[in-house]
Amino acid sequence: MGSTYIPLTDLRHSARPLPAPEADSAPQGLLADRLGRPLRDLRISVTDRCNFRCSYCMPKEVFDKSHVFLPHSALLSFEEITRTARLFVALGVRKLRLTGGEPLLRKNLEALVEMLAALRTPDGQPLDITLTTNGSLLARKARALKDAGLQRVTVSLDALDDAVFRRMNDVDFPVADVLRGIEAAQAAGLAPIKVNMVVKRGTNDHEVLAMARHFRHSGIVLRFIEYMDVGATNGWRMDEVLPSAQLIQTLQQAHALQPIGAQTEGETAERWRWVDGGGEIGVISSVTQAFCRDCNRARLSTEGKLFLCLFASAGHDLRALLRGAASDEQITAAIAALWRQRSDRYSELRGAAGALTPPGERRVEMHYIGG
Ligand code: SAM
Repeated sequence: MGSTYIPLTDLRHSARPLPAPEADSAPQGLLADRLGRPLRDLRISVTDRCNFRCSYCMPKEVFDKSHVFLPHSALLSFEEITRTARLFVALGVRKLRLTGGEPLLRKNLEALVEMLAALRTPDGQPLDITLTTNGSLLARKARALKDAGLQRVTVSLDALDDAVFRRMNDVDFPVADVLRGIEAAQAAGLAPIKVNMVVKRGTNDHEVLAMARHFRHSGIVLRFIEYMDVGATNGWRMDEVLPSAQLIQTLQQAHALQPIGAQTEGETAERWRWVDGGGEIGVISSVTQAFCRDCNRARLSTEGKLFLCLFASAGHDLRALLRGAASDEQITAAIAALWRQRSDRYSELRGAAGALTPPGERRVEMHYIGG
């Protein structure tokens, strides 16, 4: 396994400088990129650290004791994150997702949630604020997060079998503690709760049915994610991807499923419901059925770089503007100019064009910009 890992190039220092536009007038109204896609969703990575070492995301062989994480001074402060989020909201963002690394490792995260929860859309509406976590610290934090204004949560869990899960997180973390975190989130009133399972053929695909049965009739939405070729360190191979169509077929043999339509624009998951009233599941098929044409997501890295695609190899340095003398209007104009230029559709082109990342460049790591 170790031999498939590719050594990491440190992308954190290769950001594109972002000039502050001269004009002091911020753009108003709905933005659209070159493919007509609006900007609706901002994913904010609050730390590059994680207490798990999932082989598909942050393999131990690469992210070992010698790996140097970002110093605290490099991280965007809560004030800087809130200011940036406010500017994105003015440009059309309606959903904020806190991610990482493991976001619950960022000290006092509930204070950030509280600051973000106070933001309003131009017509006075609150934002949809959520968080993606591995659940390891959720039992301790769920209540405080809810009190701070977090509405819902997504928990990653790749198996119910304890041995399989411990192997996948590679730090010997037990399933029972994640399930306790999910229960605490339910008890705190975070809703809806979603559980994300990355399915890797030959590693945990035999857990798909057990996971589906466990979360049926629970009110929790289980989502199966195709194993993706994010980053450059996980040794991704197509034969380890279980296509969602095949997964749905397997589930159908146990209990009948019916497709249901999307709830909101730009949804990543294709939604299905158990015909017997057992609830809902989702499949996220970014490898076999790419959904770039609806992608309305921007990603802000831990140190303030803006990525316009999960598979990008460089971000744009917003932190330099935030820490320089740029006005809100200038930063908003810079973000708008970037969005208008955006034409990324890596996943759609992946199949057609093979290797898409230019030679000498490396795709950004998932733990650095979040999912
Ligand atoms: N630590 C948090 C967690 O575990 O949810 C947030 C960050 S994690 C990078 C966000 C999501 O990305 C998780 O659900 C994780 O399973 C998923 N992920 C990471 N690498 C992936 C890959 N190669 N393919 C598909 N999903 C991946």
